[in-house]
Amino acid sequence: MSLDHPVNDLSHVIEADRAHVWHHLSQHKVYETADPRVFVEGKGLKLWDAKGKEYLDAVSGGVWTVNVGYGRESIANAVRDQLIKLNYYAGAAGNVPAALFAEKLTQKTPGLTRVYYSNSGSEANEKVYKMVRQIAHRQHGGRKWKILYRERDYHGTTIGTLATSGQDQRAMQYGPYPEGFVRVPHCLEYRKQWDVENYGQRAADAIEEVIRREGPDTVGCLVLEPITAGGGVIVPPNGYWERVQEICRKYDILLHIDEVVCGLGRTGTWFGYQHYGIEPDFVTMAKGVASGYAAISCTITTEQVFEMFKDDAADPMGYFRDISTFGGCTSGPIAALENMRIIEDEGLLDNTTRMGERCLANLQALMDKHAVIGDVRGKGLFLGAELVSDRKTKEPMEEKRVQAVVADCLAQGVIIGATNRSIPGLNNTLCLSPALIATADDIDRITDAIDGALTRVFG
Ligand code: PMP
Repeated sequence: MSLDHPVNDLSHVIEADRAHVWHHLSQHKVYETADPRVFVEGKGLKLWDAKGKEYLDAVSGGVWTVNVGYGRESIANAVRDQLIKLNYYAGAAGNVPAALFAEKLTQKTPGLTRVYYSNSGSEANEKVYKMVRQIAHRQHGGRKWKILYRERDYHGTTIGTLATSGQDQRAMQYGPYPEGFVRVPHCLEYRKQWDVENYGQRAADAIEEVIRREGPDTVGCLVLEPITAGGGVIVPPNGYWERVQEICRKYDILLHIDEVVCGLGRTGTWFGYQHYGIEPDFVTMAKGVASGYAAISCTITTEQVFEMFKDDAADPMGYFRDISTFGGCTSGPIAALENMRIIEDEGLLDNTTRMGERCLANLQALMDKHAVIGDVRGKGLFLGAELVSDRKTKEPMEEKRVQAVVADCLAQGVIIGATNRSIPGLNNTLCLSPALIATADDIDRITDAIDGALTRVFG
């Protein structure tokens, strides 16, 4: 497909960007010698930059976000109509799209009935941490205030959520951090920490050990990604989730699943936790909720948790004393409603499962050809290929060579990712997360690009 994409001179845009924009996650020194990339237009999985170059985006906007693809006029129209009718109202009053999306969303999350709106994944997670702390005050005499998080997981960029970063380099220069956040081991079987048969059970038992060490009456909540994203695309081993749920129930610990990446179809089910039969107390989501057409995040919970915040109307501490100013934007829930309709009407959960299987099989086939691929893993259109310099020792591939693979794909017009530069020595997993509308041709083009890049970089 070809678009009427920019061919006129946008060089001033590139200069304005270079002169005034501070890019996320960037070492700006590189822009002294190379032009920053500025995107202008998108359609489906395709993107065009300010120089008119075309790309196939295999990472949905860089960070697993544009689940339904670029250029969706029906979302734009729904948002436009809603903005003209009512753009915003926040605080104690509601609005029509917020009510309708909450109703529709909770139909997909049996057992979770209440939706709290905000506008980023970090914020959605912070809301849970605040709820847990308030529950500790109201129900447990100030006990059960600690929140457990896992090595390699990531939950956001604020100081509160960075206190639960399982990726040290993301957090190390921004401390000191608030107290009461305690780390548990990760569950990546490829990099075993215990030499046992039932690895899932063992990795979950390690969480119990931390709970017992800290004192179960001090622990209020455990936050986990259902499938770890930036920490290495980690699909938990068999038996892991069953045991985690059992441990949470045993010690009366609330289970918070961070679905910021996995939510809204990314893994072939509405939410990642639904592969594992888990019954969480909190689920948070952001990126794919409106596929980047509007900023929206949701914290959803059970009626049981919600009831804990109902009290005498005169009690100033009797309710959740929190607000998110932009949680009152109607653009978020109206875009989210249309986003969900598209996923349903176009059968994108099924497509994700089928295309995910194809992509995984393609990556597995590449393992026969390229000894640098140590492991491939993933679910749905959420996949990773871990690169190693030695398959036997599993020595992680040097970051600059992993980045060379990403750069080679980019030169071929295919945008892939690599695990963020936040885990020393482990920045070595190529990441794929194309939009859920990806076709077999798209998938093959992506894995062919990786094949070519690996050949060129490693010979
Ligand atoms: N949780 C997870 C699992 C994430 O991957 C991210 C962002 N990459 C966040 C939370 C934070 O979301 P946001 O950037 O919208 O604050």
